[in-house]
Amino acid sequence: MALPLTPITQIGLLIVVSQHYNFNTQGCVILDTGRLLREAMKLAVGEYFLSIQGEGRHAGRLAVFVRLAGCNLDCVWCDSVKVWRHGRTYLAMDLAKFVADQFHKPFQSGAMLIITGGEPLIPAYHKPLIALLDELSRQLGFLPIVEVETNGTCTPHPDLDALIASYDCSPKLRNSGMPKEKRITPDFSFFAHSPKAFFKFVVTSWGDVQEVYSDFVVPFNLEPHRIWLMPCADNEQTLRELAPKVVQWALRMGWNYSDRLQVRLWDKTTGV
Ligand code: SF4
Repeated sequence: MALPLTPITQIGLLIVVSQHYNFNTQGCVILDTGRLLREAMKLAVGEYFLSIQGEGRHAGRLAVFVRLAGCNLDCVWCDSVKVWRHGRTYLAMDLAKFVADQFHKPFQSGAMLIITGGEPLIPAYHKPLIALLDELSRQLGFLPIVEVETNGTCTPHPDLDALIASYDCSPKLRNSGMPKEKRITPDFSFFAHSPKAFFKFVVTSWGDVQEVYSDFVVPFNLEPHRIWLMPCADNEQTLRELAPKVVQWALRMGWNYSDRLQVRLWDKTTGV
């Protein structure tokens, strides 16, 4: 049996409904499809800036970063959480025009576009990201080299995948504090099979390296040339102390080493 609505509940419902629907002169509800479509094409942006890529196989490259807000994980050592928890919302088309205007010259010089987060591949972002990249390539006259930084738990839509040149995939280990079923999902197979994906593991100990081997390399058959070990260090002093050990572990396993140039250069500052 339906419960009667109190006047306050009725007002609340009216407010929610009126955000997405219009009413005609007879008071009938009309679906505002234009508005719904526009809402679906929104991206929440934590920050954007021109810099160099500090990590992974593209370390040192000129890059425009767009950091999207929101993540499906909550790692204990996340160093970007303060930025991705809050975002300013943009229509994808407006953001594309803005980014094209502001960074036209670096893109002309070959700067990469790095879409990072948070987790930029959460499903709600797939369509807006396709719209962003389509409009950006229209504005610039070409599509920059697009790299997505991801935790490897969300498979991109095929139309989005087609626009992405590479994935800097950083699957999380036990040291993230996240339960295994949240950080290793069936979606990881997409990245394991994609020739565009490279894997960057954040490590603090030799035990972490063994975990990389047993939980990822063996079950997903990851080739050594696709693996980078990176120190878990959000400040310059920790990086200085941990980096030599991580280099030794990388040499021992026959994998690559990733530094954190942004931490060496700017310590804890983000957006630089
Ligand atoms: S997945 Fe990345 S962005 Fe998300 S909480 Fe973990 S470290 Fe932070």
